[in-house]
Amino acid sequence: MSEHLPADVDPCLDDARKGRALPLEIARERMLAEVTPVSGGETLPIGDALDRILLEDVTSTVDVPSHTNSAMDGYALAATDLPQQGERRFAVIGTAWAGHPYAETPAPGQCVRIMTGASMPGTLDTVVMQEHVRVDGDHTIVAAGHRPGQHVRQAGEDIRAGSLALAAGTCIGPAQTGLLASLGVARVRVRRRPRVAYFSTGDELRAIGQPLGEGQIYDSNRYTLGAMISRLNLEPVDMGVVGDNREQLEEAFAEAAGADAIITSGGVSVGAADFVTETLERMGSVGFWKVAMKPGKPIAFGRIRNALFFGLPGNPVSVMATFYQLVRPALERLRGIEHPPPPILLPAVCTDRLRKRPGRVEFQRGVLERGNDGRYTVRGVDHQGAGVLSSMAVANCFIVLAAEREDVAAGSEVAVQPFSGLI
Ligand code: AMP
Ligand code: MG
Repeated sequence: MSEHLPADVDPCLDDARKGRALPLEIARERMLAEVTPVSGGETLPIGDALDRILLEDVTSTVDVPSHTNSAMDGYALAATDLPQQGERRFAVIGTAWAGHPYAETPAPGQCVRIMTGASMPGTLDTVVMQEHVRVDGDHTIVAAGHRPGQHVRQAGEDIRAGSLALAAGTCIGPAQTGLLASLGVARVRVRRRPRVAYFSTGDELRAIGQPLGEGQIYDSNRYTLGAMISRLNLEPVDMGVVGDNREQLEEAFAEAAGADAIITSGGVSVGAADFVTETLERMGSVGFWKVAMKPGKPIAFGRIRNALFFGLPGNPVSVMATFYQLVRPALERLRGIEHPPPPILLPAVCTDRLRKRPGRVEFQRGVLERGNDGRYTVRGVDHQGAGVLSSMAVANCFIVLAAEREDVAAGSEVAVQPFSGLI
């Protein structure tokens, strides 16, 4: 690995094939370019469509709001009756409630007490907030200085009947769900969830519940992967553990190829028992297999039949880093998000010294905090090893150190990717 090379060796050249490792952005672009959204959809009640991608435009058949109504509790009156100077007395002839319109048509000099959301009575077009009037028995006194038309929500001002409310390709979040309800739309056509088959590779791996023999470890990657896949609203297909042997791998690949995507962990390095890449080469195609990032350099990407294939490294932190930096955007496009937004990057002051060798972009694990002065500070977690999963569990962000960057001095600014919204 590059960490053990003398400083003058290009860390991009240090693998068995002596090919150049791809910069992360290029790797991400190349992966994305290979992905087209899964075809096929289903029609779901809007309450079940959270995080799904709309397959069709939703055009409104109604005005939202459906009626011109008051934005405030107060008094509805005609703009032409507003005093230019001094004050004016209005007779209060009734009350308009939300859901219970006031039916009469007021005459000049009259006003109607009105609640937020109530339809504007007759031709009245202006609301004066109740805090801004004086009440005198069944009259109300309004001073000059109000704007004609104020505090009134016009019918259709949010969405007009016949206009596009949500475009195909929109991801349905809480706001979109509410918007659909406001249009009276009960069901929507959404893209189906891609099926993502995943398995761990490694002779040393045991499932939870089995006793551990000498040199064996519990398979954690499969659980991490299952959780990450579920979070992205994809359909996880757990295929268990596959040993380090060509026949078992071939069998597993053949079975997994029925899915829309396959994710494996382990076996993509250049060790004597790393068969994932060569098996992929035999059964499908490999896009590339080295990315200049740390953790997680060796990565296989390709296709088996119609399934996208992502062969991630075995180290548990590498699995998470490569998943979020590379696989996630590809899976987002697979599920229908044409241009997955890049993760949010925040500037933060690093409170301790970080070790970094130039060559690969690093995703160190950090703890981000907001100080009393409102500024963000970040410290690196103690153990940054690619196998130390507790570093991910205690961290709340990746500290992103560009490829060319060297050691980071305490007090320097770094870019940070918060886990919130990412993982
Ligand atoms: P590999 O990429 O197969 O060489 O694995 C690299 C390291 O990750 C080794 O120490 C493996 O034991 C470990 N590892 C591989 N797969 C898993 C897994 N599913 N769960 C936990 N650790 C793993
Ligand atoms: Mg292995």
